[in-house]
Amino acid sequence: MRKQIAAANWKMNLSVSEAETLLDQILATEHHLAANQEAIFAVPSIYISLAIQKLAGKNNVYVAAQNCYSKSNGAFTGEISAPMYASVGVKHIVLGHSERREYFGESDAFLAEKTDAVLAIGSTPIFCCGEPLSIREAGSQNSFVETQLKNSLFHLSEEQITKVVIAYEPIWAIGTGKTATSEQAQEIHAYIRSVMASKYGQSIADQISILYGGSVKAANAKEIFSQPDVDGGLVGGASLIATEFAAIINALK
Ligand code: PEP
Repeated sequence: MRKQIAAANWKMNLSVSEAETLLDQILATEHHLAANQEAIFAVPSIYISLAIQKLAGKNNVYVAAQNCYSKSNGAFTGEISAPMYASVGVKHIVLGHSERREYFGESDAFLAEKTDAVLAIGSTPIFCCGEPLSIREAGSQNSFVETQLKNSLFHLSEEQITKVVIAYEPIWAIGTGKTATSEQAQEIHAYIRSVMASKYGQSIADQISILYGGSVKAANAKEIFSQPDVDGGLVGGASLIATEFAAIINALK
């Protein structure tokens, strides 16, 4: 059975003491993870070791990186590689968030290289895709997202693709308070699964977790996650509030 995942994306927020407080607050909340469910915290790199220490021993709870470089090591000042993250205990790396694509010019081809780097060390890429508002308004979201998936993931083997988590995040819904309706989310998630099935077959496509991202909060998580092809969420703003994120974890199916 594919995993149901609540993934927090803290982005570039919080001081170290704020990060510690938030982790303590989350640990103090009532939240439950079944065997097929995971909570993942993509914290700023500088807080990864702290978060790993704080969350040690918690079943199905992981700390993720928000990005990595495509090369393993070398003269790439300021970058952090997938093997470096693995060496401190990171098992998941978010790739291709729309903010990285937009502000740092990350292309589909570069993201294909990063995906290879993450898989090469046995970690899980949380691969983000999603369309801007103009594409949604033109009704071209399916082909836009399909191209992102084909360009960055279709070179992977069957074994590799089952290790990838896909996060569909319509850019117009990220940090805007606008959420895709649960019908809109289901429609494009089903389409994404059909794209994966066309390349890898239905049984492999059925094993891939596809998360929704875009203004998920406690108040809408249950309805969005109840859709058959929505396997949880990648959550920005609401993941910075312990009670909100705990409720989002508890909304997993
Ligand atoms: C995100 O950063 O991936 C995201 C979905 O943000 P928000 O939940 O704030 O829209």
